Amino acid sequence: MTHHAFITGGGTGIGLATARLLAATGAKLTLVGRNGARVQEAAKEFENAQGIACDVADEASVTNAFAKARERFGPVDILINNAGITPSAPLHNMELALWNEVLAINLTGAFLCSRAALADMYAGKWGRIVNVASVAGLKGGPYISAYCASKHGMIGMTRALAHEAAKRGVTVNAICPGYVDTEIITRAAETISSKTKLNEDEARAMLHAGNPQGRFITADEVASAIAWLCTDGAAATNGAAIPMSGGEI
Ligand code: NAP
Repeated sequence: MTHHAFITGGGTGIGLATARLLAATGAKLTLVGRNGARVQEAAKEFENAQGIACDVADEASVTNAFAKARERFGPVDILINNAGITPSAPLHNMELALWNEVLAINLTGAFLCSRAALADMYAGKWGRIVNVASVAGLKGGPYISAYCASKHGMIGMTRALAHEAAKRGVTVNAICPGYVDTEIITRAAETISSKTKLNEDEARAMLHAGNPQGRFITADEVASAIAWLCTDGAAATNGAAIPMSGGEI
């Protein structure tokens, strides 16, 4: 069976690494992100892929992207909810707009895309939804209350939807990585370096100090777990929130 995977944030980092592994299984790919040129460029790497500009926080944009996805490659039976942003600020002076933006993209975006994909999955009696959460969905940390709330919410949605979908051939799981070496880490190290006396190498070392393996996770490692969850062999794994943090949690 040839699958059609819809990957949010599919033009970079974990999303692109996942696209590569799913393409290797023969899946057709729809890659979405706000930067349409970037996802279209990323899609050129694959034989059967398209890039579509889409803001997952915008209901109409999600509806439009799913319509285009189905028009080209048919029903969507794999959804990777990977789009996310990671701004930080102490809660006592966090702007409401920042809080709302993080929840809208990281959590409501996953809701809108899951809702859009489920009709196809239920009709075909087979589906895989993998939500890219974080260890911040399983524990707290300073200055990331909005991010933590969004990822805790994503795991709650994962567990609830897993029950709804359980008898329809659809699994819903979350992956919870520690720090993964992507653009997010580059930006975080730059921010830390600009606000402290640490240089960027020291900031990077500080970020992965919590990982008992003393290193960043790689995007390929996260993609590998996601790709496995999309196999038939993973059918019994449902409603899981799988930590990938070198033993941190
Ligand atoms: P990344 O390269 O910055 O990926 C984030 C992706 O999300 C980008 O492709 C971005 O594309 C897309 N995106 C952001 N807002 C969007 C929106 N409103 N609509 C559609 N797409 C949107 O970083 P990454 O590390 O691969 O992050 C992927 C996911 O992993 C995120 O959910 C993040 O929270 C999670 N995660 C990352 C780490 C880490 O340390 N890197 C750890 C745990 C979890 P556009 O800018 O084009 O929209």
